[in-house]
Amino acid sequence: MTSLPASDKPSLKVVLCSPRGFCAGVVRAIDTVERALAKYGKPVYVRHEIVHNRYVVESLRQKGAVFIEELDEIPDADVPVIFSAHGVPKSVPIDAGKRNLLAIDATCPLVTKVHREAEIHHRRGREIILIGHAGHPEVTGTMGQLPAGAVRLVQTAQEAASFVANDPDRLAYVTQTTLSVDDTAEIVAALKARFPNIAGPHKEDICYATTNRQEAVKRVAPVVDAMIVVGSPNSSNSQRLKEVALRNGCPHAELLQRAADIDWNRFGSISRLGLTAGASAPEVLIEEIIDAFAARYAVSVETVSAVEESGIFFPLPRQVRSGEAAE
Ligand code: SF4
Repeated sequence: MTSLPASDKPSLKVVLCSPRGFCAGVVRAIDTVERALAKYGKPVYVRHEIVHNRYVVESLRQKGAVFIEELDEIPDADVPVIFSAHGVPKSVPIDAGKRNLLAIDATCPLVTKVHREAEIHHRRGREIILIGHAGHPEVTGTMGQLPAGAVRLVQTAQEAASFVANDPDRLAYVTQTTLSVDDTAEIVAALKARFPNIAGPHKEDICYATTNRQEAVKRVAPVVDAMIVVGSPNSSNSQRLKEVALRNGCPHAELLQRAADIDWNRFGSISRLGLTAGASAPEVLIEEIIDAFAARYAVSVETVSAVEESGIFFPLPRQVRSGEAAE
């Protein structure tokens, strides 16, 4: 559309949530693919979307990454294959080894931490409850760390209320990293009420990035007419941000991938817009949304900050660290 003259535009305050967008695990995963392309050349295979964002995946595809869902789609041996930030079942690196692929694990270290917790509980003879969403690759990866049946999925407080334990005194729980903080607290409370001896994480499994982005949305939601969450529909933490906005007093919230997806009929008569992005969505997409609103509104931008998040950094996988030889 042609931009209106500034004097004809209605005013719009854009309230930016901070922190928003990329987390340290996503930065590490994207850097891993870029470093692998620089080191090994094309093609570099990536099992599953490296992070759940179409813009990121397309950018990497253009640079030479080849996205696959299963290893048997890779026609050659001795080529690099990167496992996505969500983690993979134990069987996947084993299969990669059998096929002589160069496996590079971009699983977020905070997901790997949950894998290790589950293994420790299993070694101590505990039945494990995983609080999470069926079908999400992180859930598949966490359940796949242990033999079938060792980890059982609980998705809701209702399921927690009806869970039948093999031995109520030998029970533990772990969680997906990208859940709603409030929903998870409710599920954990339901489990603890029924199984007082259940073992759990010393510190939350929900990661810092998920927690902080939800906290920022909670502050902004009550003071805006609408909220846009930039992210992909298959991004768990982005979906949760939209839910958090709606539950905390925002009358209208949408998860959108790009500015082109904005339905202007639904954002026509607002004076305050909240804006955030899931942990896999780059800042350039936030800028694109602001530009789209600036073509129709006289936009002023304010930032509401919940937590200072600078300085969080995860080292790259050793195969793509500078100065380290590939295995
Ligand atoms: S959202 Fe959390 S768990 Fe997922 S990649 Fe980012 S830091 Fe890691």
